[in-house]
Amino acid sequence: MTSICIQKPKQTYKKNIFTTGTVGWPGVTHVSKQNLGPLVDRALELPGYTEDKPDMEILVGFGHNAVLGVADKIVAGVKDGSIGHFFLVGGCDGVKKSRNYYTEFVEKTPDNSIVLTLACGKFKFYKQQLGDINGIPRLLDVGQCNDAHSAVLIAVALTKAFDTDVNGLPLSFIISWYEQKAVAVLLSLLHLGIKDIHLGPSLPAFVTPNVLDVLVKNYNLTPIGTPEGDLKKILA
Ligand code: SF4
Repeated sequence: MTSICIQKPKQTYKKNIFTTGTVGWPGVTHVSKQNLGPLVDRALELPGYTEDKPDMEILVGFGHNAVLGVADKIVAGVKDGSIGHFFLVGGCDGVKKSRNYYTEFVEKTPDNSIVLTLACGKFKFYKQQLGDINGIPRLLDVGQCNDAHSAVLIAVALTKAFDTDVNGLPLSFIISWYEQKAVAVLLSLLHLGIKDIHLGPSLPAFVTPNVLDVLVKNYNLTPIGTPEGDLKKILA
């Protein structure tokens, strides 16, 4: 575990987790990045997988430099109608079944939309083969939650191309949260004045009814519903 969030590991699993850098947990071995020997030794001790799955290609690496490298194609696609909408589907992962919402949402996005994704939640659906629009993959993996900065830079570049603000773009934020770092990302998006964020699968504990009222009134923050219903509302 490096900069990624850690939660209390099961006692039986503690031997298989290692931390480094600023991350640590009582009873979990901490290694320096210069000496990963204990981690490698433990991996070699384990039996590994008994069978493999067929190879497949997963495209990654769509930070702002890569995406904005084809900004002219993206802008042309929006202008000629081949790109109708952008969705940023990102945030934390978790085991609750309600988090399948995000996979289903991505699966149901229309063929003329681009899905930008980032953070742990993407691992549920980043193997989806959504095809491309004029050579631009429909599913663009922007990176980890720390790369929300990159997604904002992409959005800001689009605002310039279309002479509008972020809320004026055909762009919707579909966010899943779990950890305090994700809450910091959410607060950053609100600070930037981004509205209409769909948040789930549940609301953070600090979102009391009064706080929700403020967030709904000022930011139109919306708890997620169903993938079909939310898509219909967003694209109406
Ligand atoms: S996406 Fe969420 S769980 Fe994953 S590292 Fe970021 S804050 Fe932590």
